[in-house]
Amino acid sequence: MSYVKGLFCRECGREYPAEAINACDFCFGPLEVIYDYDSIKKIISRDRIASGPNSIWRYHDLLPADIENAVDINAGMTPLIRSHNFAKSLGLENLYFKNDSVNPSFSFKDRVVAVASTKALEFGFDTLACASTGNLAGSVAAHAARAGMRSFVFIPADLEPGKILGSAVYGPNIMAVDGSYDDVNRLCSEIADNYPWAFVNINMRPYYAEGSKTLGFEVAEQLGWKAPDNCIVPVASGALLTKIWKGLNELASLGLIDPVKTKMFAAQAEGCSPVVTAFDANSFNVRPVKPNTIAKSLAIGNPADGYYALRTIEESIGGAWAVREDEVADGIKELAEKEGIFTEPAGGVVIGALKHLVETGQIKPSETTVAYITGNGYKTQEVVQDIVRPNLIKPTMSSFESSMKL
Ligand SMILES: *Cc1c(COP(=O)(O)O)cnc(C)c1O
Ligand SMILES: [Zn+2]
Repeated sequence: MSYVKGLFCRECGREYPAEAINACDFCFGPLEVIYDYDSIKKIISRDRIASGPNSIWRYHDLLPADIENAVDINAGMTPLIRSHNFAKSLGLENLYFKNDSVNPSFSFKDRVVAVASTKALEFGFDTLACASTGNLAGSVAAHAARAGMRSFVFIPADLEPGKILGSAVYGPNIMAVDGSYDDVNRLCSEIADNYPWAFVNINMRPYYAEGSKTLGFEVAEQLGWKAPDNCIVPVASGALLTKIWKGLNELASLGLIDPVKTKMFAAQAEGCSPVVTAFDANSFNVRPVKPNTIAKSLAIGNPADGYYALRTIEESIGGAWAVREDEVADGIKELAEKEGIFTEPAGGVVIGALKHLVETGQIKPSETTVAYITGNGYKTQEVVQDIVRPNLIKPTMSSFESSMKL
């Protein structure tokens, strides 16, 4: 069973029943799930979690949906890879890559959608929907297929072909909107008001966002029940960064790990960096921008959780960095060449930020650092197409040897 008591407004604290709503009637603040932590504390333990399924559902006591109803295509429990080559090149002793690009639909979005789709079924919805920057569409389509639900996914029309195909294959209704993600999101809010559908990141958002906590839980468990010293997180809406921090602190407050001293670092690409811009200006007021970036999965110009991401960065004494657009593909290539992980631009952004944070001394050699690799490079091949080329040879020994340039 789930330990959800209701929802509360993050701004004014008003409480609401656990329904498919995402904003406070009084102040329009975002709603968040309230748990019965006293009851959770009585039953939860490291052993109970470790003996659970090999997926995000091992943390079901701290998720807002019932494991009995789980829409489960095995999201989560992705590898935490200790870096050798990259660590050495940066002079770091304890660098890890959380490779979330190997989830069922090849991005971390499977975590949030697993929770949101399960909750949607619990509420009795028959249609799952989303406004997507790319990866969410694929995950919603895949989970809807598994759950036997109808799906509508809305994407900006200029999305990478691999992401469109990687959604379309699951058989959703795909709506390619002539506009930016922020336009798509506005349209979807209007549709959500008029159709009785479960929009995972609109009316289901309080439940959806909780799924991202599992990227905090899992890393702590995989490090031997320890929070890392530093997390580097790609930021679009800002929910992922905020919820990793929440997840770590939940584990600490339940006595499963020591008090958290993790620093949270936000990574964005320069062409869409409203959170980093606010951080640099020492402001909590995120000014919307018009995105123009190669990192399309992070291209949210008006981030819903930008303010809370900034609060998290401040509370954790972390930081934020915007990576130059021309460094993004280099980051993808470097991670592939040094660690054997092929990521999409969001991962290239994280690599660029990691290098900057080490160079500027914000991340120290002996500290435990986790860089979150949240999406898969096979969906965005055009980004590196021109910098990786095979050697073309004839099927002869001499052609081979002359191309080898020994
Ligand atoms: C959606 C997404 C993010 C950011 O998630 P937010 O919670 O919106 O900040 C990061 N990386 C990838 C690959 C994504 O698809
Ligand atoms: Zn309120």
